[in-house]
Amino acid sequence: MIFTPEKCRIPDQRMKPFIDADEIWEYLNTIHPTKEQVREVIAKSLDKNRLSLAETAILINATDPGLVEEIKQGARELKERVYGNRIVLFAPLYIGNKCTNNCSYCGFKASNKEAIRQTLDDKALVHEVEALEENGQKRLILVYGEHPDYSPEYIAHTVKVVYGVKKGNGEIRRININAAPLDIEGFRIVKEANIGTYQIFQETYHPEMYKHYHLGGMKRNFEYRLTSLDRAQEAGIDDVGIGALFGLYDWRYEVMGLIRHTNHLEACYHVGPHTISFPRIQEASAINFDGKYRVSDYDFTKLVAILRLAVPYTGLILTARENAAVRSEVMRFGVSQIDGGTKLEIGSYSENVNEKQDLNREQFHVNDSRSLNEIIDELLGDGYLPSFCTACYRLGRTGEHFMEFSVPGFIKRYCSPNAILTLTEYLQDYAPEATREKGFVVIEKNLQDLESSHEKVNVPEIRKRIERIRAGERDLYF
Ligand code: SAM
Ligand code: SF4
Repeated sequence: MIFTPEKCRIPDQRMKPFIDADEIWEYLNTIHPTKEQVREVIAKSLDKNRLSLAETAILINATDPGLVEEIKQGARELKERVYGNRIVLFAPLYIGNKCTNNCSYCGFKASNKEAIRQTLDDKALVHEVEALEENGQKRLILVYGEHPDYSPEYIAHTVKVVYGVKKGNGEIRRININAAPLDIEGFRIVKEANIGTYQIFQETYHPEMYKHYHLGGMKRNFEYRLTSLDRAQEAGIDDVGIGALFGLYDWRYEVMGLIRHTNHLEACYHVGPHTISFPRIQEASAINFDGKYRVSDYDFTKLVAILRLAVPYTGLILTARENAAVRSEVMRFGVSQIDGGTKLEIGSYSENVNEKQDLNREQFHVNDSRSLNEIIDELLGDGYLPSFCTACYRLGRTGEHFMEFSVPGFIKRYCSPNAILTLTEYLQDYAPEATREKGFVVIEKNLQDLESSHEKVNVPEIRKRIERIRAGERDLYF
């Protein structure tokens, strides 16, 4: 696919800001869509095309409840047609919460004197990773505050420590990063450590509102943050994740901001973001937030459906900030990754106590605190195929969400078999008996579906590899 740049008021140039707030508001204020227009836009997306800013605004401004349901139905259909039933699982691992910034919504902000500041030393980090591996985790996102202690060299060091931890059959096979923006040289250093995605959320794409919430420190610079993933690309990191913190400003504007950011990366680097995240603000220690732009569940589910349709080939990440019920609804719109067994208190995975969350030790409140196994068990019951696959990244097949979307048969030949193999490992090594039984029934059903599909899938080979895993081999993939 060739990414045709959209004609925007600020022309796209590498490492140059690209957001024009007035332009975004003009789209939102002047488009009053008819039913037919909304349906045309949904059909365009179902034909596997990315939507323009004007088309995204058409979906955003469709408010009739029947049309909103059609948008949600479109997202469900796109998911079923393109992505099937896999959900990739990961866990966040907070490395340190020292921070020199003052983001008014965050429990880690420098001015919060109640926050208990901690940074995992190597020994504590190893314990945390061992505990995560003993739960069955294979993919982590490491999270850091913004502080001179968390230099690119330090981040790279922690990544190497984590990759080095092997407990029983456990190992971490992919490490993503959520940390402060770096300069090009800094991104190069972190890339060398073999990271997966570098994720940075813009928080709000509105320059003035951004200043309103970011009261001190480096993060106050809107443009430096906006162009951070350009610098990552310049440093050779082509796997980047974007996001907006929903609740800071009008959700409709932020959805447009995310699409504009996607356009920009496609125009300048010929590759869009690997993933989009859409965290909603949660309660936090010493939070200073008036709630004026709080996003209701109704608008939240609508906006996720719109994002799915607007960028049909990008991975969508849904986190445990949301409760189980919202997660279950939104997952049907084609979310590709969720976290499971999430704990945000620094050092808490290895403490092994599931006591009440302590807001002074975590960045914000988690609403889905179920264990990884509870989540997997529910996914299996709901017809999903939980996956810990990391094959593309390890084989250098970058941009896997895009390939899943655009290469015919890719999912059936690679993603589903790898989901089955990594689930088999999980069931053998970590699942309680009841989940194991349920899991193997789901695997058999998926194998039968692959057998009857039109794609040429080597199901006997998948069955052989399942047997090899049951006999003790690990880390087999296509
Ligand atoms: N310090 C880095 C930064 O700000 O980019 C690392 C990431 S921060 C620890 C991770 C993300 O959590 C932020 O980008 C923000 O979007 C989100 N976050 C902060 N406070 C939150 C809150 N109260 N509720 C939900 N998400 C929050
Ligand atoms: Fe620091 Fe990030 Fe929290 Fe802002 S969001 S206070 S930069 S940890």
